[in-house]
Amino acid sequence: MIQRNLFSPEHEQFRDAIRRFIEKEITPYHESWEDAGLVDRALWPKAGAAGLLCPNLPEEYGGYGADFLFNVVIIEELSKAGATGPGFSVHSDMVATYIYAFGTEAQKQRWLPKMAAGEVVGALGLTEPSAGSDLKAIRTRAVRDGDEYVISGQKVYISNGQLCDVIVLACKTDPNAGAKGMSFILVETDRPGFRRGRNLKKIGLKAQDTSELFFDEVRVPVSNLLGKEGGAFGMAMSKLAEERLSIAVSAIALVEAALQWTIDYTQERKAFGQSISDFQNTRFKIAELHAMALAQRVFVDRCIELHLKKELSAVDAAAAKLLCTELQCKVVDECLQFFGGYGYMWEYPIARAYADSRIRKIAGGTSEVMREIIGRELFKNIH
Ligand SMILES: Cc1cc2nc3c(=O)[nH]c(=O)nc-3n(C[C@H](O)[C@H](O)[C@H](O)COP(=O)(O)OP(=O)(O)OC[C@H]3O[C@@H](n4cnc5c(N)ncnc54)[C@H](O)[C@@H]3O)c2cc1C
Repeated sequence: MIQRNLFSPEHEQFRDAIRRFIEKEITPYHESWEDAGLVDRALWPKAGAAGLLCPNLPEEYGGYGADFLFNVVIIEELSKAGATGPGFSVHSDMVATYIYAFGTEAQKQRWLPKMAAGEVVGALGLTEPSAGSDLKAIRTRAVRDGDEYVISGQKVYISNGQLCDVIVLACKTDPNAGAKGMSFILVETDRPGFRRGRNLKKIGLKAQDTSELFFDEVRVPVSNLLGKEGGAFGMAMSKLAEERLSIAVSAIALVEAALQWTIDYTQERKAFGQSISDFQNTRFKIAELHAMALAQRVFVDRCIELHLKKELSAVDAAAAKLLCTELQCKVVDECLQFFGGYGYMWEYPIARAYADSRIRKIAGGTSEVMREIIGRELFKNIH
């Protein structure tokens, strides 16, 4: 078996602590949060105190200046535990990352320590009912009026939508400038004119509050602009490699967990006087899936190494996201089969994983968009 060699003893110690936190503070409550459609807000400050939020931020902003491997540990442990309700990744790896990378000192001081402590929950508002993959087609407008922007529009499928206190919102500041007319604006959710819509009912991720959001002439000071006006597309592009690698990291961790659940279960379960694992079909199928997982594991770990050196390209990250999320859906489907009827029962992690996995091929850029990115690199003369 190929051994992973990315992590130091410090990372492994952190992994143990995260695992214990998940066992104590998340797993016992996850089903009740699934029923409620969102996690208990009280989880957030606990997660902050345990170091699960914004680990990369420097200490002056509430983080502990950790390297990306600490994010990897958090993502892997949440994924293996099926803890898909808490929207920590959007909060830490996207919203806080954007504010840290592009915010003014005042914005960083105002938001980041509270985000690291879990006192403030962040959301990223890009997608609209009529624009998802084609981000530049968004219609939400921010019109300058003196020292304020007046924001009107609508967002959909926004993770942390019910719990968020601040949104990094993609708006059109110049509707005639295409991608260059898009800006990120920080919008506090206690502003008049902001309204949360439905907490959307989904196939999976049932404890995640994925929501509609409405903006009806919401006024924010121009000092809430993140980065420069018209810069949102460029900012989003500059963070894509890390975001997609993070999705791949989560996907391959779940693949490995699902295979282990299946290996354990098929050795216990009997049919026709023998264990399910005694059937050659079981061993062959699991061996084949394991081989695919191993190949992706090596690829993802190599991508992590490159990312640590700031050398991971957006195209390679797209390949990792494409392959790992497609494999995740294949593996959970094929593993579920070995559980028979139990595999269809919600109390079995494989059933939840089946429901939770499907979104991976859609959110964070669809598989088709990933193929498009890779294809464009390979066929550079085609536009
Ligand atoms: C649970 C969940 C959580 C989410 N969280 C967030 C969030 O926090 N913030 C946020 O802003 N968004 C979020 N999203 C939105 C998500 O990012 C979008 O759903 C995704 O980008 C796809 O956009 P779309 O739904 O508009 O599909 P569309 O863009 O309408 O795509 C429809 C189909 O057309 C295909 N297609 C589109 N363009 C091309 C092309 N060029 N070539 C070939 N095929 C193409 C797509 O691959 C897809 O199969 C979330 C979605 C879900 C379901």
